[in-house]
Amino acid sequence: MFTRRRAIALSLAAIIAPAKAEARKIPVVASFSIIGDFVRQVGGDRVSVTTIVGPDGDAHVYEPSPADGRSIAQARLIFVNGLGFEGWLERLIAATKSKGDVVTLGKGITARKDEEGEDPHAWQDVANAKVYVEAIREALIAADPEGAATYKANADSYLAKLDALDAEIQQAIAAIPKERRRVVSTHDAFEYFAARYGIEFLAPQGMSTEADVSARDVAKIIDAVKTHKVAAVFIENIADPRLAKRIASETGARMGGVLYSDALSDAKGDGATYIDMMRHNVKQLAKALAP
Ligand SMILES: [Zn+2]
Repeated sequence: MFTRRRAIALSLAAIIAPAKAEARKIPVVASFSIIGDFVRQVGGDRVSVTTIVGPDGDAHVYEPSPADGRSIAQARLIFVNGLGFEGWLERLIAATKSKGDVVTLGKGITARKDEEGEDPHAWQDVANAKVYVEAIREALIAADPEGAATYKANADSYLAKLDALDAEIQQAIAAIPKERRRVVSTHDAFEYFAARYGIEFLAPQGMSTEADVSARDVAKIIDAVKTHKVAAVFIENIADPRLAKRIASETGARMGGVLYSDALSDAKGDGATYIDMMRHNVKQLAKALAP
């Protein structure tokens, strides 16, 4: 007999079952949005990902909240970039006494270095993104061996998409005349992109947004833009657009729109995933650098 009590029990079960499924997921933390996307791609339904520095956020200068500390305390795995990117994170992890394993994805790549130290922006080269994804796959398999087949299948399918993306970027850049492949960004976030795909980036601010931009830095860039006939000046999604606009107006260079440097857009934007963000950037570059 279908009693009222049974109806209530059934509807309760419908509420509790998904909550239980969620509770069984492996709790993991990603330090910022781009790594968060990689972990979701590989982890799929088996993991519950909390991203600390969200869309359009600047991980160089982030100030963690108590909620971030709680997520880290509960995480089985904590995926971070390293290479000096999230300077605030080590202290936060230590403070939470987290027992989660910290997986430093930047360790797997050949880091670019200059007088400022290591360049953390490795994800701007799709070959490095693949190294990150492979390391995420291995860490998830080690933490959750039952999910090995799922993680492998998810990673394989995503790595194939990254190969296609890499080829697509190379093709798009090849169509831009060589003498036009020089642009300005706000901070020095695109050296890995430059090295792989052959576009030169100048920036008034260094590899970290922590550094102040002096009047001298700006004057130097304005000079360089004039001397080297830089085709376009870009805004970054994590940066104040005023500096880029000033450089463009003082040099007569074209304003080239927004590039995603250190973060994805929100879900409604056109850089909500890593693949979308890289596609968006290349489209902006190709548009601004067309003769
Ligand atoms: Zn940066």
